Amino acid sequence: MTRSAARADRRGGPPPSPEPLPAPAVDSHTHLDIVLTGFRPEDGQPPAEADVDAEIAAAVAVGVPRLVQVGVDVASSRWSAELAARHPDVLAAVAVHPNAAGAGEADDAALAEIDRLAALPRVRAVGETGLDRYRTGPEGWAAQEASFRAHVRIAKEHGVALVIHDRDAHEEVLRVLDDEGAPERTVFHCFSGDAAFARACAARGHVLSFAGTLTFANAGYLREAAALTPLDQLLVETDAPFLTPVPHRGRPNASRLVPHTVRALAEVTGVEVEELCAALTRNAERVFGPWGV
Ligand SMILES: [Zn+2]
Ligand SMILES: [Zn+2]
Repeated sequence: MTRSAARADRRGGPPPSPEPLPAPAVDSHTHLDIVLTGFRPEDGQPPAEADVDAEIAAAVAVGVPRLVQVGVDVASSRWSAELAARHPDVLAAVAVHPNAAGAGEADDAALAEIDRLAALPRVRAVGETGLDRYRTGPEGWAAQEASFRAHVRIAKEHGVALVIHDRDAHEEVLRVLDDEGAPERTVFHCFSGDAAFARACAARGHVLSFAGTLTFANAGYLREAAALTPLDQLLVETDAPFLTPVPHRGRPNASRLVPHTVRALAEVTGVEVEELCAALTRNAERVFGPWGV
């Protein structure tokens, strides 16, 4: 590392881009708006188009020409749908996030708007939805579950994928999915379970999306989970700006860093990087439909 790179590292600035992948892969879950403006910016302004285009171009340059932009509330879901409509490299997912739902935001008007957006041609998933028992306390669990169930129904009504956020709620998420009847294409974003939970999800036909957490030193249980997941049920994602993969853990994440996670997944599964990239692209197109790039 050069001295200036070491200084940038200490400042926690954006890490450098990795070596490009040998074949195109997909970032199946990113929040470009949060990367560029933070979570719910005070001025309420979305990022400038030029900045968004530069972020996407940086991902394309390392072999990541397909992204899924994920909304977490009504405003960001609308923005995600608009971005996907204008950008061939981007598809959108729309939802009220479980923690927002736990705080009472998934009211009838919000759910009606998610339902409206889910009908748009480049909105190909409902999510992220699910249960989060880490950030939401017991007082919000009933509202969170009601919202999760409503999102499952919206996904099925429109025939699009369901993107699950599951934090410290593995068994409860499966209980709700089994009870409602999971959509045909259901993705566990930022999969966080162990080998036994991976087996339970894979047996139901669900898709497991691994984030930068796969590369963390203390995440042996995730590597075990990834190793036993069938190749055609795997995805990778950044969840940018969160969960930055090693060697840049702790610094801001971006779609252009997903090659670190792809390479870690190749090592864990024993599949060549190029073959893995082809599988990840195939899986993403099966789950979300074609991007048109
Ligand atoms: Zn999430
Ligand atoms: Zn997310």
